[in-house]
Amino acid sequence: MQDSHHTFPSLLLSPDVAISGDADDPLSQRSYPEPAHPYRSAFVRDTGRILHAKAFRRLAGKTQVFTRRGAESDHSRSRLTHTLEVAQIARTVAATLGLNSTLAEALALVHDIGHPPFGHAGEKALDASLQMHGLGFDHNLHALRIVTSFEERYAAFRGLNLTLAVREGIIKHSHDYSAATHPELSEYFLDRLPPLEAQLIDLADEIAYLAADLEDGLAAGILDLQLVLDQVPFFSDFYARARSEFPAAATQLLSNEAVKQMLNSLVTDLMRETVRQVRASGAATLEDIRHAPRRMAQLSESLEAQRADTKKFLYANLYLSPALEPEHIHAEEVVQTLFSAWTEKPELLPFDHQARVAEEGAPRAVADYIAGMTDAYIEQAWLAYVAAQNS
Ligand code: MG
Repeated sequence: MQDSHHTFPSLLLSPDVAISGDADDPLSQRSYPEPAHPYRSAFVRDTGRILHAKAFRRLAGKTQVFTRRGAESDHSRSRLTHTLEVAQIARTVAATLGLNSTLAEALALVHDIGHPPFGHAGEKALDASLQMHGLGFDHNLHALRIVTSFEERYAAFRGLNLTLAVREGIIKHSHDYSAATHPELSEYFLDRLPPLEAQLIDLADEIAYLAADLEDGLAAGILDLQLVLDQVPFFSDFYARARSEFPAAATQLLSNEAVKQMLNSLVTDLMRETVRQVRASGAATLEDIRHAPRRMAQLSESLEAQRADTKKFLYANLYLSPALEPEHIHAEEVVQTLFSAWTEKPELLPFDHQARVAEEGAPRAVADYIAGMTDAYIEQAWLAYVAAQNS
């Protein structure tokens, strides 16, 4: 493992590769021009707008991995706490590199806002339902629609009227869209890479959930500590080190130490490798970052391999484990059944969603309704549906 000592100035990038966020920066502009705030910058305001959005608060009721919590562990992450962990990592990385940490924080806070209930299983089911109508569900595009249209907080405009930099980051943090298939996204520089502040969100997300899911999986008793020690050298190396340093420490604490060190080494590596790539490329400005042949926010080859191996282990032993299968089957049944029922009879939707059927067509309007729900809300809708069927 690498020596973890470094001096912070060695990781500072030139301010010219960062987004300034100044009032005259085109990336600070909003679709509906608003007067500048006397003491809050554009991205500070965006962070506040996201924090105060209804869709943000609903993240508390949406789970990532454990779709029906309670029985397994009281401490499993919700999408909200996962989001806060991503924000913490993103802020650290951006600040250490001299990037715009307020923008990175805003992007982290908004990055999962478009996710439907029931985690990945819910998203897959919703996407499959839409595919039957020649459509599809994409959580990044959905997030953009939430912040540009569904959130209604302002008398002057629909949505949150976020800056161009935040809207660009929402759709581009984890995926590159082509202008040919997505002409509606043309204002987001689709022929160019996103700024580093957006690029790093994808890795902050990967790092946060890798550590969190290991911890939650162990706490839930779905992952067996011995199996993790045997099959995840990334974890067991740190575990062994902690044990030699603290021979009397309880297993739980050694495990916590190992997860913490994994997280720390990934974040440190992300910062170092990103700086290395930017310097090696000779990129001196934001435009150079945008026109580079590939994203430069990266892990080094060796840590990327460790990350990928650990993720593979989590897929086999946690995400696709038999212990979680009943939850996935339930999620699929609930989402697909309600989707079909409401698409066939949109008059069963609440009035505001019925109004959108005329605009968007029933499949999309129903998918938007479902995507906004928390796990508890869709469970309630499911119980009501089942009761109506049986009456
Ligand atoms: Mg995430």
